[in-house]
Amino acid sequence: MKPRIGFFDFTGCEGCQLSVLNLENQFLELLELVDVVEFREIMDERSGNLDIAFVEGSISRREDVRRLQGIRKRTKVLVALGACADTAGINALSHFRDLKTLKTEVYGDGSLMQDLEHPMPLNAYVAVDVRIPGCPIDGKEFLAVLQALLLGREPELPSYSVCVECKLAELPCTFDRELVCLGPVTRAGCHAQCIEGGDRCRGCRGMVDNPRATPYYRILETHGLSEEDILREFRTFNMRGGGQE
Ligand code: SF4
Ligand code: SF4
Repeated sequence: MKPRIGFFDFTGCEGCQLSVLNLENQFLELLELVDVVEFREIMDERSGNLDIAFVEGSISRREDVRRLQGIRKRTKVLVALGACADTAGINALSHFRDLKTLKTEVYGDGSLMQDLEHPMPLNAYVAVDVRIPGCPIDGKEFLAVLQALLLGREPELPSYSVCVECKLAELPCTFDRELVCLGPVTRAGCHAQCIEGGDRCRGCRGMVDNPRATPYYRILETHGLSEEDILREFRTFNMRGGGQE
C-alpha cells in the first residue's frame, strides 16, 4: 500500500500549498509514489489515518487547536509547512498590537472572528516532527523532505546562512546598496531567490543555527539602524535565536 499523505491549512495565505501544486509534473509524478488522501485545495474527500500530514498556517482560534490535535492523533509524521506553521511567521506581528483593537480594525465591531487569538506556531500545541521553513516554501525542498521521509530518513535543513548561497550565485550584496539584509543570520535553502530578484533577505526561513548575532548587530548599527529598527527587522518573520559572539 502506498503511504497516505494529507495537506491541511490554518491561518495563512495558502501560498505554501500553491508552491506544492506549482511543482506541476513533479507533483503528478509524486502521485505515483503516494496516495494524497486529503488536500482541500484540490479535493473534497476526507479520510482516516495518515502517514504524513503537511500542515500550513498558524493557529489563531480555539477550534483550530482541537482540529490540529485531531490531525496529530491520526498521523505518524506531522510536518510544519512554511513560516506560518513553523514560527507563526508574518502572522506573529499581531503579538505587537492590542488584539481587540486589531480585530476591530480588520473585522469591524460585529461578531465576526470574535474567537480570534494571537497566532501561534503548530509546536505551541502539538509535537512537530519536521519543519519546512520559508514564505512560501521552496518546492524543491518540499520534494527533498518528502523523499527523505519516504525512504525513512530524517530530513536535514541547511545549517548555513543565506549569505553562502548568495555568494555562490555571485549576487551583488544588498548592503552595498545601503539596504539592510537578514541573509547573514537566516537559514539557507532558498537559493537567495529574493536577492536574485532584486529584493533583500527578510528572514522568512528563520534563524540559522548558531547565528553570529553580535557582529551582525554591529553591521546593522554601522548602517545607521537603531535598536528599534533592528528589532523591527527581526520581527517581520518572528525571527528568534540567542546567537553567539
Ligand atoms: S508561510 Fe507565507 S506563503 Fe506560506 S501560508 Fe504563510 S504567508 Fe502564505
Ligand atoms: S545580499 Fe544579503 S545574503 Fe547576500 S551576501 Fe549580502 S548580506 Fe548576505
